[in-house]
Amino acid sequence: MPSFLRRKLARFLRPRAALPPPEPAVSLLNEVLAANAKYAETFGDKSTLPLPPARRFAVLTCMDARLDPAKYAGLAEGDAHVIRNAGGRASDDAIRSLVISHKLLGTQAYFVVHHTDCGMVLFTDEIISGLLEKSLDTAVLDAEGWHDVGHSAGSSAGRYIRWLTISDAEQAVLDDVTRIRQHPLIAREIPIHGYLYDVRSGRLVEVPRATAAGQPLAH
Ligand SMILES: [Zn+2]
Repeated sequence: MPSFLRRKLARFLRPRAALPPPEPAVSLLNEVLAANAKYAETFGDKSTLPLPPARRFAVLTCMDARLDPAKYAGLAEGDAHVIRNAGGRASDDAIRSLVISHKLLGTQAYFVVHHTDCGMVLFTDEIISGLLEKSLDTAVLDAEGWHDVGHSAGSSAGRYIRWLTISDAEQAVLDDVTRIRQHPLIAREIPIHGYLYDVRSGRLVEVPRATAAGQPLAH
C-alpha cells in the first residue's frame, strides 16, 4: 500500500462512534415508508412548487451520509439543485446535470462542496479494482489496508472505471472547479465557488484557489 494511504488510514481508523448492526431489510423498508407517510401528511404548499429552483443555484457535493446539503446550505424544497456522487467529483455525469440545471432550469451559480475526512482518499483505482476482482461483498479496512473477506464471485469490470479518487482535498476541489469552468458546455458567466465542508464543525471553508479558478469568464 502507498505510504500516503497508510497515513490516511491511521487517521481514519482513530476510535469513533460504533456503527449499529445493519437493520433487517424489511424493517428498514417499513421505517422509510412510515417516515414518508408522515412527511406527506404535512406536505401542504409544496404541492404547488414550480420545477425550476427558486434560488437559482446548484450544489455538487459528496454522497457522504454525514453531509446534509439542505441543512449546511439552508435549503428548503424547491430552492436549489443538489447533485451528489462519491467525492462530489465533476464527473461527466455531474457535468451533464450542471448543464441541464442552467440551460433548461435557469440556475446562475454553482457550488462545488467536498469535505474533510472523505472516504475517497482511502483507496486508489488499483485497490478498488483488485477488491472487486476478488468478490463484490463489502471489504474490511484495518491498519494494514483493505482486505476482501467475501465469498461471492468478483469481476474485473472495475478495471475499466475511473473511480475519481482523491489524494489532496483542496486540490480535488480546485481540479473539479477548473474542469467545470473549462467545459465547453458550461456557460461562461456562471460563478463556480469551491468549498470544503468540515465534518468536525459543520462549517463550509472556502478553497480560495478554487473560487478564483471559478470566476466568470469575460465574454
Ligand atoms: Zn466524501
